[in-house]
Amino acid sequence: HNHGLGAWMAKRRLKSPDKTALIFDDRTVTYRELADGTDRVSAMLSRRGIRKGDRVAFLGENSPEFLQLLFGAAQLGAVFVPINTRLAAPEILHVLADSQVRALIHDPSFTERVAPLISAVGIAHVIPTGEGTDAAPGLSRVLRDTPAGHTDVEVTLDDPAAILYTSGTTGKSKGAILSHQNLTWVALNTLVDYDVVSDDVALMISPLFHAASLGMGALPIMLKGATIVLERGFEPGRALALIERHGVTMLSGVPTTYQLLADHPDWASTDLSTLMKLTCGGSPVPTRILNAYEDRGLSFSQGYGMTETSPGATSLHPTMTRTKQGSVGLPHFFTEVRIADEQGAVVSRGTIGEIEIAGPNVFPGYLNLPQATAEAFTADGWLRTGDLGYLDTDGYLFIADRLKDMIISGGENIYPAEIENLISDIDGVTGAAVIGVPDDRWGEVPWAVVTVRDGATINTDSVRAHLDGRLGRFKIPQRVVIVDELPRTASGKVRKADLRTRFASEA
Ligand code: ATP
Ligand code: MG
Repeated sequence: HNHGLGAWMAKRRLKSPDKTALIFDDRTVTYRELADGTDRVSAMLSRRGIRKGDRVAFLGENSPEFLQLLFGAAQLGAVFVPINTRLAAPEILHVLADSQVRALIHDPSFTERVAPLISAVGIAHVIPTGEGTDAAPGLSRVLRDTPAGHTDVEVTLDDPAAILYTSGTTGKSKGAILSHQNLTWVALNTLVDYDVVSDDVALMISPLFHAASLGMGALPIMLKGATIVLERGFEPGRALALIERHGVTMLSGVPTTYQLLADHPDWASTDLSTLMKLTCGGSPVPTRILNAYEDRGLSFSQGYGMTETSPGATSLHPTMTRTKQGSVGLPHFFTEVRIADEQGAVVSRGTIGEIEIAGPNVFPGYLNLPQATAEAFTADGWLRTGDLGYLDTDGYLFIADRLKDMIISGGENIYPAEIENLISDIDGVTGAAVIGVPDDRWGEVPWAVVTVRDGATINTDSVRAHLDGRLGRFKIPQRVVIVDELPRTASGKVRKADLRTRFASEA
């Protein structure tokens, strides 16, 4: 009997067969059709010898096949490995080799890029999506030739369901093993705290390979039997049109997603009255964006999490956005958060320390990295997030910054995120990263590395003048370096370690 995600589609076919599961390419897919497709995927993988524990990877845009592979692999107890399409070839190679992928399904646009990787790793089964050719039939054709039939393999909630790679912001990307339990509970947490109901229509414009879109978007929707308007990618004008056409109630994204929607010429004329549930995570939502949405009567649930927590850990209810401005909210219903000092002792409310998380959505460990796994947990089993923050008197979590990015200058702790937010408010600034550089007198001093719009006149003096009076003097960057581009990960986060290495020698 399959107690994990492998049981979900059969249950949905039983409970709501005619309900619309997906709207994709203006085509409607019912739960019965999605479940039947999932059975075919599962049968196809099984015929090719994919067994419990084998890894099945997907590299491509959002599509029904993505979900069918996730659930189809789960029916066999196989482990799904979604790959970020924005990774560079060596990074894709790392994922494929590290997780020893046995089957890879990819969009045809990746054929040339993955060919050398496939031979380097030795992947047994490689199938492009679409029709393919006679010589190399694509997934659609392969599935048509596969007899339907439900496979049901013994799976427990502790078995791995997916391997999701971390963003690689602080070092090499790590494969986080997420169990069936983890993915079930993150979906339950989302149902409870975001009020997901079966009448919801969620517009999915974020890539499903991101932990947030998967764990807090697709899974809770499938669990409730609600509807996903599934987009291959994000096109703001199209997204606005779809919100109106389908009466979209739920939307999730990162701050940039929301910014791009609000900046679109159709923003003002689009009927957004159905949008009830907006979720935003990954980084703090700038006030400018909050205001643009509030003007339309819309407010966000901001959230905090990480790949290792599947990923939702906390969320701020939309009614609390103003009262608890800057907070990432309360722990999800089935999840706990505490703050610990350097010795691991729990600190009092209001004191900054390392954020620690416990709950059924916390992963069991990293793939092939026993040392990193051991270091990720406290003696009593809580996840050490590597993030710093504090809980206020009401238990709301405020993030300070990453432990690795904290600057210590003359014995004072400096959290770059605070400085970056203020620099980002300066007209003409398009990106900012504050790092510590070595200093003989203070140990470290903050520098700001900034990207600017063409023609903007921004320099050390103007930035320092802007921050003067807003921040303690020791936090004001000693130098502001303008660069053409900040080094970023595939998910858009700044690689600060690269900047620290680069500027350490110039200090
Ligand atoms: P790696 O672990 O490989 O260095 P990463 O930590 O960036 O990369 P993810 O799991 O994608 O990989 O990101 C989780 C991190 O993102 C968190 O640990 C935290 O530092 C940051 N983060 C997530 N949500 C928020 C938020 N709402 N505000 C501020 N930071 C956030
Ligand atoms: Mg991390």
